[in-house]
Amino acid sequence: MSEEKKACDLCGLTVEVSGFTLKLKTGEQKYFCCDGCKGIYQMLNEDQVLAE
Ligand SMILES: [Zn+2]
Repeated sequence: MSEEKKACDLCGLTVEVSGFTLKLKTGEQKYFCCDGCKGIYQMLNEDQVLAE
């Protein structure tokens, strides 16, 4: 099984823990290294992020 490491879409750090993701209205999935990055991204891109 190969595990693909992603880079945080806010700060660029490697995403070590999965689960901090957001889905955009475009269908695109964004990955974050922590809840803080996810929260900031969500705040900055409120109009593009799908509400959960
Ligand atoms: Zn981050």
